Amino acid sequence: MIMTRVPMQIQLTQSKKEKPDPATLVFGKTFTDHMLIVDYEEGKGWHSHRIVPYAPLTLDPAAIVFHYGQTVFEGMKAYKSEEGTIRMFRPEENMKRLNYSLDRLCMPRIDEENALYALNQLLQIDKDWIPTLDGTSLYIRPFVIATEAFLGVAPAKKYQFFMILSPVGSYYKEGIHPVKILVENEFVRATKGGTGSAKTAGNYASALKAQEVADQQGYSQVLWLDGVERKYVEEVGSMNIFFKINGEVVTPAINGSILEGITRKSILQLLRHWEVPVAERKISMDEIRNAYENGQLEEVFGTGTAAVISPVGELNWDGYKMIIGNGETGELSKKLYDTLTNIQTGKENDPFNWVY
Ligand code: PMP
Repeated sequence: MIMTRVPMQIQLTQSKKEKPDPATLVFGKTFTDHMLIVDYEEGKGWHSHRIVPYAPLTLDPAAIVFHYGQTVFEGMKAYKSEEGTIRMFRPEENMKRLNYSLDRLCMPRIDEENALYALNQLLQIDKDWIPTLDGTSLYIRPFVIATEAFLGVAPAKKYQFFMILSPVGSYYKEGIHPVKILVENEFVRATKGGTGSAKTAGNYASALKAQEVADQQGYSQVLWLDGVERKYVEEVGSMNIFFKINGEVVTPAINGSILEGITRKSILQLLRHWEVPVAERKISMDEIRNAYENGQLEEVFGTGTAAVISPVGELNWDGYKMIIGNGETGELSKKLYDTLTNIQTGKENDPFNWVY
């Protein structure tokens, strides 16, 4: 990959923080010593790339991001191999998706190669924060906010781009295990033409209510249905969804309201490489229920950066409980999880050139 160099100011911290115990890391609560900031102004473009000590921000209370939610983000991971090299999984795809989201929210595009170069520098500076314990990684959160102080509803003329880093623990402390999912019949996440296919804050804020109800009932996430007929499967809270029905692996097609996951894309590539029959198409809950009743619903799993593969052991649709694979992890889910995590961490070779 070609690396475009941008002038980067680097201000190192005078007081390094204590690193957390890798065995007790939780998601998204600890942050490294430094962060990246880049400014944007209309007419000037992106400028003043800098790496500075991690610290709170000072923003005008009228900044557009606080009022109209003009903000987008990404989520990806870095790993340290046994030889000590830093590995990232398909980060170009995250930068591409960040630009897709920026376009959708009327925000200025970033230079993808410059952003990766800046991320490399940030990772070099904070590389001691990348945990190496099995299953741990350094979560990378790039995000862009509208900083212009203006209460009119219009795209901002000023923005800031940040990258912050957070060491995270293994999603599965006691090995990969299935989760329980509640099919959401009341609330909707997105519809075609909306912002569901962009990674923007509003999608997540509007999903909290349904998530709260699911939590109270002992379900870990909700499965969203289409916003028009509440008939077709879309995706899970922060994962795409796959069903293995009678030997074929089926996932909802990208339709304008689903987030196109990078894990989803990689799983499809792996399955095709293994010559497992796959289909990207519309799937209705009626079809899932019929497959279940006919004994053909073999496996269900979610895919996303956080868990990589999350087997689903129970789907509850309006009180009708489908127990999948006796509530145990399916063979294909396990194989996909092992293969992908081994490629990510360097334990297995990378036939697709996914690792950066
Ligand atoms: N759907 C949503 C709504 C998400 O937030 C995520 C997490 N980014 C995904 C799917 C999975 O995407 P990825 O595989 O790129 O993490």
